[in-house]
Amino acid sequence: MKLNLLMTGNELMSGVTVDSNSALIARLLEPLNLRVGCKLAIGDDMEQLCTEISRLAGMSEVLIVNGGLGPTSDDLTAEALARVAGVPLVESAAAMAHLETWCGRRGLALNAANRKQAFLPQGAELIPNRVGSAVGFRLHHLGCEILCTPGPPGELRPMLEEHILPWLAAQYPNSEPVVITRFQLFGIGESSLQELIRREMPDWPPDVELGFRAGAPLLELKVSSFSEAAQTARIACEERLRALLADHVIGMGNDTLPSRVVALLGARGEHVALAESCTGGLIASLLTEVPGASRVFEAGYVVYANRIKERALGVSHATLEAHGAVSEQVVLEMAAGALRESGAEHALAVSGIAGPDGGTAGKPVGTVWVAWGSAGNIRARELYFPVARKLFQTMVAATALDLLRRDLMGIVEEPRYFRERRVPR
Ligand code: ATP
Ligand code: MG
Repeated sequence: MKLNLLMTGNELMSGVTVDSNSALIARLLEPLNLRVGCKLAIGDDMEQLCTEISRLAGMSEVLIVNGGLGPTSDDLTAEALARVAGVPLVESAAAMAHLETWCGRRGLALNAANRKQAFLPQGAELIPNRVGSAVGFRLHHLGCEILCTPGPPGELRPMLEEHILPWLAAQYPNSEPVVITRFQLFGIGESSLQELIRREMPDWPPDVELGFRAGAPLLELKVSSFSEAAQTARIACEERLRALLADHVIGMGNDTLPSRVVALLGARGEHVALAESCTGGLIASLLTEVPGASRVFEAGYVVYANRIKERALGVSHATLEAHGAVSEQVVLEMAAGALRESGAEHALAVSGIAGPDGGTAGKPVGTVWVAWGSAGNIRARELYFPVARKLFQTMVAATALDLLRRDLMGIVEEPRYFRERRVPR
């Protein structure tokens, strides 16, 4: 089925808004086994709108037009579509009723600008908008179903989920099951991963699709099958990947490092305390984003100044003087202090040089010491993330959480990043 997108709005052309709607549409269509053939973004220009609606409709079975349904003079979609189809704009009673309710609920009088939104191309079928004032609509034109949708993502998503996707599923039934599995990985780079799969799985089946998405800090690996026949092959691929990627697999689907750590601690009825310097509370923030964090998170000490490291966590003055704040001894004492002060069973401590200033030859910007463990078993490691300040903090927080995860899972193997993230000396 040929399905294409036309994204409209001057703000897309000027870069004020980044077009995320086309990605949203594509993602939501995927489970229906519907793929976007092409997408085009244009400004709010009547002539161009008419030209492109007409051209794309001629090469599509379904054309989704996005944006330009609002009450202002730059919202031209309904009029452009009416011109292309050679029909007048006519007042829709249902759209007017929607506008009246929408305005009424907000205590607003229905003005002329709003009234404009009730005029749809003759013959168009209304698509309800649960959130906003602008209704969507669908018009059949020369063998193409043209679906007009609102620009605000908060209105587009419910319209897609509640109306457009069910309609598409009914119009273009897909007898073949689409299954998409997402692996969340940490501690392995995109190219190493690609290389590993190429080497270890040279017989990758052609009907199983593999996709990579490198995010910071997780790398997502997507394994998809689009037919009944490909199911067995996909399941076999997934099993081999799970074995191959082993300790790099943080989880599946929407799992994250903090969500896994909270789940692992929760299952044991144990707790964690944090002593953070260079991450400034980021690890605590990540953990507390997870629902249920209160069952496992005891305390986060943000000990930036050396004198606070001493006062709050009992790091010794002599240790700081002798080794400096970014050192093995200091993170070990920070972790021990966090355990002692909080009573938690597990601790993480980080101290590093985020930059851009503050580096030395021996401890360049990007150097970080991480300590993790439990009473009597605290370990520390020096790592190197020579990246911009924000990414440095993201990577340090993720690495600390991963070390705790590995500990909780009883993984004894050393992570790859111990080898790959050494400080050059
Ligand atoms: P409104 O009633 O708000 O005017 P509309 O249907 O006319 O809605 P637009 O005017 O095109 O839609 O866009 C409204 C807002 O929606 C934009 O300012 C922008 O914030 C957001 N938006 C529009 N198009 C996109 C897009 N492709 N991706 C992400 N956001 C978008
Ligand atoms: Mg608008």
